[in-house]
Amino acid sequence: MKYIYEFNQNNTEGNASQKNLLGGKGANLAEMATLGLPVPAGFTISTECCNDYLQSGGNFPEELYDQIDSAMKSMENEMGMKFGDKDNPLLISCRSGARQSMPGMMETILNIGISSKTIPGLIKKTKNEWFVYDAYRRLIMMYSDVVMEKAEDIKPKDGMGIRLNLEMILNDLKNDKGYDNDTDISTLEMKNLCEKFKKKIQQTFGIKFPDDTKEQLMGAIGAVFKSWNGKRAVSYRRIEHLPDSWGTAVNVQSMVFGNMGNNSATGVAFSRDPATGANKFYGEWLVNAQGEDVVAGIRTPNPLNKDTKNNQNKDLPSLEESMPELYKELFDIRNKLEAHYQDMQDIEFTIQNGKLFMLQCRSGKRTATAALNMAMDMFDEKMIDEKTMITRLDPKQLDDILHPIVDPKAEAEGIKLAEGLPAGPGGALGQIVFSSEDAVKWARTKKVVLVRDETNPEDIEGMRAASAILTARGGMTSHAALVARGWGKCCIVGAGTLKIDYEKKELTNGIKTYKEGDFITLNGTRGIAWEGRLNMLKPTENKRFQEFMKIADKYRKMGVRANAETPEDALLSIKFGAEGIGLFRTEHMFYGSDSGRPLFLLRKMILSKSIRERKESLNELFPFVKKEIQSTLEVMGAYPVTFRLLDPPLHEFVPQSEKNQKEMAQALNIDVEEIIQRSELLKETNPMIGHRGVRLGITFPEIMEMQIRAIFEASAELIKQKKSPFPEIMIPVTCNEKELKFTKDITERVFKETIEKFNIVSIDYKFGTMIEIPRAAVISDKMAKYAEFFSFGTNDLTQMTFGFSRDDIGSFMNEYIENAILDADPFETLDTEAVGELIKASVKLGKTTRPDIKLGICGEHGGDPASIEFCYKEGLTYVSCSPYRVPIARLAAAQAAIKYGTIRPK
Ligand code: PEP
Ligand code: MG
Repeated sequence: MKYIYEFNQNNTEGNASQKNLLGGKGANLAEMATLGLPVPAGFTISTECCNDYLQSGGNFPEELYDQIDSAMKSMENEMGMKFGDKDNPLLISCRSGARQSMPGMMETILNIGISSKTIPGLIKKTKNEWFVYDAYRRLIMMYSDVVMEKAEDIKPKDGMGIRLNLEMILNDLKNDKGYDNDTDISTLEMKNLCEKFKKKIQQTFGIKFPDDTKEQLMGAIGAVFKSWNGKRAVSYRRIEHLPDSWGTAVNVQSMVFGNMGNNSATGVAFSRDPATGANKFYGEWLVNAQGEDVVAGIRTPNPLNKDTKNNQNKDLPSLEESMPELYKELFDIRNKLEAHYQDMQDIEFTIQNGKLFMLQCRSGKRTATAALNMAMDMFDEKMIDEKTMITRLDPKQLDDILHPIVDPKAEAEGIKLAEGLPAGPGGALGQIVFSSEDAVKWARTKKVVLVRDETNPEDIEGMRAASAILTARGGMTSHAALVARGWGKCCIVGAGTLKIDYEKKELTNGIKTYKEGDFITLNGTRGIAWEGRLNMLKPTENKRFQEFMKIADKYRKMGVRANAETPEDALLSIKFGAEGIGLFRTEHMFYGSDSGRPLFLLRKMILSKSIRERKESLNELFPFVKKEIQSTLEVMGAYPVTFRLLDPPLHEFVPQSEKNQKEMAQALNIDVEEIIQRSELLKETNPMIGHRGVRLGITFPEIMEMQIRAIFEASAELIKQKKSPFPEIMIPVTCNEKELKFTKDITERVFKETIEKFNIVSIDYKFGTMIEIPRAAVISDKMAKYAEFFSFGTNDLTQMTFGFSRDDIGSFMNEYIENAILDADPFETLDTEAVGELIKASVKLGKTTRPDIKLGICGEHGGDPASIEFCYKEGLTYVSCSPYRVPIARLAAAQAAIKYGTIRPK
């Protein structure tokens, strides 16, 4: 089995298309090497090797050893150095690299190959003893953390891992001596520090820090493989719904040093601005620094060029100014990479003694606004075609463009708490918490803002749970900024005036102290944190976005409707581009703020005992129901509006308070005791599968008749006003075609009566049903005899297929996801394995009876991009979702059409 793929000037075996095998990082390193860019020689160990290693319980495959030897030789030849050699030693790095970038898994070990045998040679070669011991102490820190502790699954006491312990030793030394920077430490002190580190390691783990370079290398490779099953990586995969089976690749590469003096540097850059999308080279760098220094947010990084200057870094020298020739070389590489990949690239580079090296490139994470602007700019620049442009914006990111913002008027009067870099867009507010664990806990019931000095992969879950993130340190490419941007979450980094006291759970900005639980408001677009709760505004209209969506609609083949039940929501839906209402939940007209009187009448009807009493109440209710229906029909013009007849169990509407019970008793001319008795009779053990939906219509046909008459009369009146309403009558929770026959008979009779009463020719309408019970799905050929359309109620269909109560999943769903029993919450993303199969069967059977049957979905899944893709593939006519998700659905539907073309059944 071939496990190793080399990349060097003479022999590069992989390319950018092999991300599954080589991981994103490995595939792109190979691609850059092939493009002739200055990539330090190295090799990638495949994800297959990781899977074999993990499956065997942590043993390297036999043939791997020879393959490593041979790849090391190629690397040594190119670099003119030898790994482990006493005179001319080569140092190497070892990094993880999965198929997709995973901030939860940044395992990196640099400077492998430093040992008592190689140190003298290194000093002689570099003529820089300080540098050698600084590199050594970094190796010790990273290796002991990643290989000796995390990979061995050692749980540190008091949560103080080895890395923190070693950092404390380093900080103690700096404090004792009054040093501000690591560079102030003397060579001798650095040498002693390495010895202290090694002693601490031996005390902690009971074993020596490995002094054999080969052992260091194999230890690092094994640790990267093991980290695939580490807590952080697993939790990241659960959040992002990524499969465990991918495995990670390992990239072993010769070291180049950005910390060899003032002629050396390291940096991170984006080929365009990842926050706004502007076509400007954007980045940060540090002189005389190594590896992760820029990302870790330890020092405020310098701007790459004048385009990258901001308030925080405007006085620091740019690379453009400090090293103009190298900047130009880097700028040319930026252009070459963008032209080659036809997308914005995120790159890492190192300058060693005046020579530029490329360490990484990948498609860069970006805000939704940046994604939109870049896609449209690149199309205008003729770099990409229109279809590619449409696929560049992730529908899930749209939330972000349609994000609320902090009201500028409130900001004008606000008290500024801190200012930092605008790392994640939009506005958000919440209560301060200081740890990831607290963020997760509090976020169950409250909105929180996670405040940290800086974040690291251990904070992932808290960052996810928080509404926004604020850090005191770090630049635009820090961990917090990258993660927040990836999620489209409001975030401010590098708010340097903040001093955080984790123990006391408070922070100060030098003027005032704020405690855990205090409210703050973040403007992630401007980088300002405000004290207290500021007013938020709904997202503004974005012209460019509308233009983009117009083009997306050109490709879309599936309709998009909204779930809405008021004229206001109907208007909003149209504004967001809905082409009808796919679900008007009739019961919602009794929930709103002005529903006092109608709710009273509904309750009166429910508690009626005789048909006479009930009809009386229904007559009183009728004008109200008709008016509500009419006002929505009117707003929707000629678009279809699907009225779903009353669905919920009646007892939900029974008066509970003493006052309401008294009032009702008076109205019905009975005593309160009797009201309580009648209410008791309506109680059910399992209301979700009790007396609800169509069953109400079967037991009380007059209730159903009243609603149908209201729909027809509302339409007839509009027709008289020369309008063209298009109502659809939808029967909920059906499981038997005879239920449909029963209700269709009533519908047709009331239709005729209305036509005659209003003396009109006809009313355009459709009669159909929800498919939300598995039985209905498997007898859809029979259901289609009466139903002209099906709308998949995937909330109930999921509930009844899984047997999970949709209102009670909170008590177990987390454990199902954490233990990988389910990949995703099936109430969020359609379960294609079973619920999807039921939909497929229903579609197929429905079409056998009625080939032109209209098919929609109106469960929550109608606004979920993955589920929308499924609906497209199965040939659904439309999806329906909440108004705010309409743009998401439009874009997801357009992308599905571009991706699958005509695969979709007619
Ligand atoms: C459904 O069950 O999917 C549905 C849309 O109806 P409701 O959520 O009102 O039960
Ligand atoms: Mg339902």
